Amino acid sequence: MIYCDYQATTPLAPEAREEMLRWLGGADSDGFGNPHSPHRLGRAAAAAVELARERVAALCPPGGRIVFTGSATEAINLAMRGSAVRGDTRPVAVSAIEHAAVLDTAADLGCPVSVLPVNGAGLVDSDVDLPGDVRLVAVMQVNNEIGTIQPVEDLAERAHDAGALFLCDAVQGAGKIAPPAQADMIAISAHKLYGPKGIGALWVRDGITLAPIITGGGQEQGVRSGTLSPALCAGFGVAAQVALAQQEADARHVDNLWEKAVDLLPGWVLNGSAQQRWHGNLNMRRPGLDVARLMADVRQVAFSAGSACASGSGRPSHVLRAIGLDDAQAKSSIRLGFGRYSTLAELAEAVEKIAKAAEHQDNL
Ligand code: PLP
Repeated sequence: MIYCDYQATTPLAPEAREEMLRWLGGADSDGFGNPHSPHRLGRAAAAAVELARERVAALCPPGGRIVFTGSATEAINLAMRGSAVRGDTRPVAVSAIEHAAVLDTAADLGCPVSVLPVNGAGLVDSDVDLPGDVRLVAVMQVNNEIGTIQPVEDLAERAHDAGALFLCDAVQGAGKIAPPAQADMIAISAHKLYGPKGIGALWVRDGITLAPIITGGGQEQGVRSGTLSPALCAGFGVAAQVALAQQEADARHVDNLWEKAVDLLPGWVLNGSAQQRWHGNLNMRRPGLDVARLMADVRQVAFSAGSACASGSGRPSHVLRAIGLDDAQAKSSIRLGFGRYSTLAELAEAVEKIAKAAEHQDNL
């Protein structure tokens, strides 16, 4: 199986895996302590968690703190719900191409939601009008479906001018490109940067207080109760450290992969900007393509039709619709995702199989 679905999740980095094993903690090891216990085992686990916290914080701007969560989805919920004063009905603004974690949470807040449009290149207009009394603006850094990099610094400035906080879902950009320096809160997920699944983080700028959405033992500075997993934290920390150390090499590698893949797909149309984009995401369409058939014909390649979260629903992607594609164009689009562990040879093989199967459809 050739894996081309790096936006859905990434393989665990071997360095992260090794660190996790140390903290999984069998009865014959000293790595199973509860990081919230005061004895020696607990303190060792707590030290591993704090080291991981520093390493994850290095992915974010200075001047804030990391709250570990169970996923980026939870981090986004904490940011959007926890930043509201009880009974707050002031509007929030979100872009039209946010992940469901943002869109569905916004819809559940019980306040007006203003949707910021995107242009045909998949970019949010940073000159967009915000509602006068907006309290929170949420725009992602890199879109998960089409890979476009949003003008988040300008949008954060607009949000601040309007008196609002700015939340950035940096799940697809963290560790790959520079962090959104002006954001007030940043959500990230370990499993999109070669760390383990089941852990995310919310970075919160100093001076911002959040109300907890999970109450109990008061862990994570009182905003996210529940015993932390030292193994997940440690794996996240090492994955973050490796991502920073390899950031330039990873980006160069992905640029080479992108060029090769695009060359092998003549006649396909790129969805979203080619320049303002993370090149580990290749979302393309081919007029008349039957994507379900293509996926059935090319079972040896793991790739996605639109967003992995929406695929299977049969609904055309809200992102592809937002950039102006009609139903037929959206439904003839595929997403190939590649990254650190993809090789040029295996990507070329995957793309050739896809191109051949798509051409074969023309003769049916
Ligand atoms: N935001 C974006 C842009 C994503 O791509 C994803 C996952 O697909 C999420 C949020 C949710 O992340 P998690 O799986 O950690 O909940």
